[in-house]
This record gives sequence, structure tokens and C-alpha cells, in this order.
Amino acid sequence: MKNKSSIIKVLVVLMIPLFLFQNCSEDNPENVLEENTIQENSKLLENLKQWGFKEKDINDVGNYYVVQGDMAFDKNKEYSSLDDIDILKEAKSKTSTSKQRETPFSVTINNINVFLNPNMNANWTNASRDAINRWNAVNSGLNLIEVFSAANAHIQIMYDIHDPDTELSDNTFGLALLPTTNGLPGTRTWINNDFVFSVPGSPCPDKIITQNDRIANVQHELGHNLGLAHTNDNSFNLIPGTPNTDPGSVMNGNSACTISDFSNNDEIAIEYLYPLPTISGPSIVCGTATKIFTLSSGTANSWQVSSNLQIVSQTSTSANIKSTSSSTSASGFVEAITSAGTIRNDIWIGGPKVKLTSVQPSLYWGGSYYVGQQVWFNFEDQGQQVFPLNSSNFQWRKKTSSNYDYSLVTKSGPTVVIKINSSGFIAIDFEVRIKNECGWGPWRTYEYQLQV
Ligand SMILES: [Zn+2]
Repeated sequence: MKNKSSIIKVLVVLMIPLFLFQNCSEDNPENVLEENTIQENSKLLENLKQWGFKEKDINDVGNYYVVQGDMAFDKNKEYSSLDDIDILKEAKSKTSTSKQRETPFSVTINNINVFLNPNMNANWTNASRDAINRWNAVNSGLNLIEVFSAANAHIQIMYDIHDPDTELSDNTFGLALLPTTNGLPGTRTWINNDFVFSVPGSPCPDKIITQNDRIANVQHELGHNLGLAHTNDNSFNLIPGTPNTDPGSVMNGNSACTISDFSNNDEIAIEYLYPLPTISGPSIVCGTATKIFTLSSGTANSWQVSSNLQIVSQTSTSANIKSTSSSTSASGFVEAITSAGTIRNDIWIGGPKVKLTSVQPSLYWGGSYYVGQQVWFNFEDQGQQVFPLNSSNFQWRKKTSSNYDYSLVTKSGPTVVIKINSSGFIAIDFEVRIKNECGWGPWRTYEYQLQV
């Protein structure tokens, strides 16, 4: 990749540095994109500055403004100004304009069709597929799907030479369009198959490109398509839960030779932008009543439930389920199998089960006890649904079938206090039960044998 720029310069009216990751684009007067329409989009230019980009990082390259080397903004498309961001955020139920790495142009779909130009070589085709797999491995609502028709694609990955309007310089690894206001991803990632690290000014001139470099750089460009900006820059705002700097981020700019894969914070950012859907529905199912569970977004390929539940009917967005038995008193679950992963809701079925949480002092054969001693028992709902326990939803009774000589002192909230009344062999046995909206759960028996 000698200097093809010297030739191109002669041919093209206007050439701009498009120095992607390695260096500051403006330091690099090498060309990159051909000029087609030399129009200006002053509103977009103003927005770019408002978003925090420095003028020196914005290059007017024909149809695009290219920012920080590899983020392309189409002059012919609409982008949101900062004033619009609150409205967009509200639409996505986000609480603030908080973001950095997050562009103001939210992608509102989760299933993203990606077309790989068939004229790319095996290295780049495989790298693109691996990058897609890495995106899909993040626990987010996103699902990138390779499609084999450009017409069906949201994003096309291609070499710059596959696009007559685009040419990347030797020192630019890739370029990506950012999302606009239509809720869809940026439509293109261009890859420079001529890229070499050994260009003047490169931070890693001796490096030979590895397959992981290719994968990581496609991951990075897809990040721009999907609304992420550069981690190591102050334009845009910080995504909640991510730090101001993250050396391991695959979204660091000018870092083509060092980025490797998503960092934990990259995954946090992606999961924030593209949360997994949730299942809404009751937390308790009573008897054999049929209840509906609904997916908050996207579609389910299928639904599945715990063995104590059955699916009465299902669609791609909801499922009607009921208990297999009217006497069930147990936890269960409802799951939606989606392309983004399995979404699970834990529920309780039937009446509640009471659970002993503590005994003071502890009771065991061989322990030391005395007449008049009091013992405290504390209980809770095993399914964590009934709270607080009180006289209307929590019952206690002596079990009358065995010899005991103790008496109830108090029963208050979840606490029962008893008193030992005589010496010798003592059996303390009693039963408790609690009630939820399904009714009373089963009596549960507790028994202790002591020598007092
Ligand atoms: Zn970038």
C-alpha cells in the first residue's frame, strides 16, 4: 500500500484525511473519500460541534462529515440536535440525556440484518462473522443476523473499493455510518483491505495485522453503526455505569492496532442501549386459573414453563399458562425463548409455604434447658411474597398428638414465643401456615425433643 494517496490526490477534487484509529485524522493529509457532492449541511455541522466534537476532528468528505477518523455522518440525512435528545430518550424510556459513547440517535430495533459483501476475502468475511458473533454473545436484546441479500440488510459490510464513492487511505482501517433519526442503524461499514499498520506516524508501525485485529475493528465499526461513539473522547455523554476512561474498550478511537474485544464496560454500555426484553405477568398463579404472560418487546420463538405449570396457548408475544394441579404450593417459572436469549420470570404457584428462619436458643437433644425458659421462633414466606406476616396471614397451633409441656407466650408478627413448663422429657411440636392471595398454604410441622 505504498502511497496510493499521491495518485488519488491528482484525480479527486477534494480529499480529506480519514485517519481512523491510529492517529488524528488531521495530522494525516492523506486522502480518503472521494468527493461527490460538495454541499454543506450547516445544521449537521452545528450539531456535530454541539455534540462536543472539535472542529479539527471534523472532516468534510463529499457526502459525509467524517469525525475522529472513522465515524461518518451523511450530509443528506437527518440527525437529532441535542434539543431533540430528551424526546428520543423518553421514547426509549431512558431517564436522562446521559451517555457518552452513546450517540443521540437511538437505534430502536433489536433484530439487525447484516449483509457481507460477497467479494470480501475469507479473512474479512470470517472476521465479520466473528464480530457479529461477539456482538450476539453480549447479554443484550440485540440480535445481529447475517442476510444474503443487500436489499434486506440494515447494515452492509464491504471494502471501500466496493463502493465507488468511498476510498479509505492506507492508514484508515475502517469507516462507519452512524444512525440517523429513523431508528435504524448506520447503513454501512467500509473496510480498508489495503490497510497496513506501517504508515508514517503509526503508533505500531512494526505490527502485522492479525485476524483478531480484523475482528476487533469490525466490532468497533459495527459499534458506530449501532450508536456507540468513542470511549476515549469527551464528545457525547457517558453511558450510566461506565467509567470515563476504559483502556480495554473496543470502542476506543485511534486504536486500531490495540483494540481486542469488548471490555466489561463495553458490555454494560451495550446492555444499557439494548436491554433484554422482560416478561410481564402475575407473580402468583392460584389454583388452576389461566394467567397471561407478555413479552415487553421483540418476539419469542417459543415459551416454556416449569414442570408444575402447563402452557394453555401461546403466541410470539404472550403465553397463557396454568398450574398442573390445584394443590401445588411451590415456585415455578415462565420462560420466553427469544433470538436474544432466554428471558425468565420466577413465580409462585398456589398457597404459600412457611419457612422457619431462626430459633433462639437453638433446640437439640443434649442441650441445656430449664423450666420457665422461653424460646423464640421466627418465620417467613419461602416464596418471599407474603410480607409482613401478621395475625391475619400467619397461623400457629399446637400439635396435639404427642406429649408436650410447653405453652404459648406471645405470637406477634412473624415471631412466636413459647415457654418450657416442666422438667424431664419434653416434646415441643407445633404447626404453622401462612396465607397469600390464593388462600392458606399447607400446615407445616416442627418438632423438637429435649431433656430439661
Ligand atoms: Zn471509531
